[in-house]
Amino acid sequence: VPQEQNKITKDYLLLDNVTKKFGTTVAVDHLTISVAKGEFIALLGPSGCGKTTTLRLIAGLEKPTEGKIFLDGQDITNVHPRERDVAMVFQDYALYPHMTLFENIAYPLKLRKVPRKTIEEKVLEVATRLGIKDLLSRRPGQVSGGQQQRAAVARALVYRPKIFLFDEPLSNLDAKLRLEARAFLQHLCKEEKITTIYVTHDQAEAMAMADRIGVMDQGKLLQIGTPFEIYHRPNNIFVAGFIGNPPMNLLTCFLKQEKDLTIIVGNEFELDLTLPLEQKFSFEKLGEKYLMLGFRPEHVKLSSEPGPYAIPGHLYAIQPLGAETLITLQVGTSLVSVRLFTDQPPTFSNQMYIHLNPNRIYIFAETGERLWP
Ligand code: ATP
Repeated sequence: VPQEQNKITKDYLLLDNVTKKFGTTVAVDHLTISVAKGEFIALLGPSGCGKTTTLRLIAGLEKPTEGKIFLDGQDITNVHPRERDVAMVFQDYALYPHMTLFENIAYPLKLRKVPRKTIEEKVLEVATRLGIKDLLSRRPGQVSGGQQQRAAVARALVYRPKIFLFDEPLSNLDAKLRLEARAFLQHLCKEEKITTIYVTHDQAEAMAMADRIGVMDQGKLLQIGTPFEIYHRPNNIFVAGFIGNPPMNLLTCFLKQEKDLTIIVGNEFELDLTLPLEQKFSFEKLGEKYLMLGFRPEHVKLSSEPGPYAIPGHLYAIQPLGAETLITLQVGTSLVSVRLFTDQPPTFSNQMYIHLNPNRIYIFAETGERLWP
């Protein structure tokens, strides 16, 4: 039946209301994620938000306190890790120290009784692609941390598991290798169409690699969506503040109604937002409450002249970064970041105006929830 097929395809991996407690610590809190076959999902969040525990639950290294996990149409909640056919690359590599890199990478193939010649071909191919071909006769202790990490990635890539689980696999690589390895991993996961869950606290890595990003905080999934959705339509202040470099500017403000006008009042600025907000807000509900005005550093312009959607600020710092210039301004007691993609920044004076684009502003409730747009 097509509909059933569709359901199975859609929920290739399903975490169904999964909770994991360690004593009184709730590491994962009623998490539901549905992953399609071949999808690349990044789990993003600060340290301690439950990313690693989520991966370990999928791998079977932890058992859920509540909830169920399904993979490829099978309930794997109580299936032994070895029988789940998932490959996990840990933060700390977990290579066998007494084996050479070759033997480490070959291990999953050996377990599956692949012929020796095929093993040699496959190990050589993946080692070449990861740039560790010349190190295959060494033991993990005889190569650098970054090379160990690449060997761990190679060991996961050498056979085709049902799912790849990556726990910050690039964190020990230097900046250049990291960018290369990022492109390589993304290319490989896509080309091989292997479903991937990739844990990172690096929002740029998540944005660059993933089909969808799940943002976690305190064991909860706050939002899951495409990088575009997460960037343009963050559900709440936490997601807005976690994505972007520098992240979204957030200024405390409140709404004021004057005749038919909707004015947003901040610390040392007032903006008439009547037109962009289209009278959407109920003043009975929001008129006296604190709100957050949000705008991204890359969505504003800067000049020494005022304008209809301009916030005055004092120049605090200018950082020329080559293709762009990062400018920090002080607005009231807050610092605001502005990113200008030009090698000809405006003439700076102490008092500058940050010109907002009314189509690119956000308003969040005090509770954090997005109210606009
Ligand atoms: P990081 O990015 O630092 O690795 P994380 O998002 O992966 O963090 P987890 O390692 O999943 O977070 O931890 C989530 C919470 O569960 C933390 O508060 C952590 O201290 C706790 N925790 C994780 N493993 C255990 C354990 N075995 N026993 C007790 N508490 C644990």
